[in-house]
Amino acid sequence: MNIKNYIRDIQDFPKEGILFKDITPLLNNPEARTNCLKILVDSLKGQKIDKVVGAESRGFFFGMLLAQELNAGFIPVRKPKKLPFETISASYELEYGFDSLEMHTDAIKNGDRVLVHDDVLATGGTAKAVCELVEKLGGEIVQCNFLMELSFLNGREKIKDHPIFSAITY
Ligand code: AMP
Repeated sequence: MNIKNYIRDIQDFPKEGILFKDITPLLNNPEARTNCLKILVDSLKGQKIDKVVGAESRGFFFGMLLAQELNAGFIPVRKPKKLPFETISASYELEYGFDSLEMHTDAIKNGDRVLVHDDVLATGGTAKAVCELVEKLGGEIVQCNFLMELSFLNGREKIKDHPIFSAITY
């Protein structure tokens, strides 16, 4: 099965010049979903994972499936002021300006083995900020994984200190 068949290109979304990678056909197909989940899990080669950290919002879909499959906790990383408990935050650069991401302070314990997940690795800013949050709380990043990587944006350079796996590369 070719997972690329379940990723739909949307030109000029959410703004002109962006080729948006729409994963909703993948989410809508149980067989493709199972296949993609297996590829991500197999890439870990049986390494123990305590927590899966998913980035808002499309990192939640497979992040949760991964956590369930790996018998690990799931931790949502969210945009500012969305999480109800005490948080830590990390900022990252956008095309124009900065944004930040937050995580609950009790989400990770010192020494937890963590899998960081998002749907797309583009410039790597999001993944880098998520890694910073994990490490602030003493988590050990086992892998950063993605459904797909836009390799021409060279995002992996920003998180090169960690093992990286992408199910699909463009
Ligand atoms: P970046 O921080 O540049 O690596 O961007 C990654 C985040 O932005 C991910 O959470 C993606 O969901 C989203 N993203 C970036 N580029 C795209 C794209 N071309 N299609 C879909 N989502 C994208």
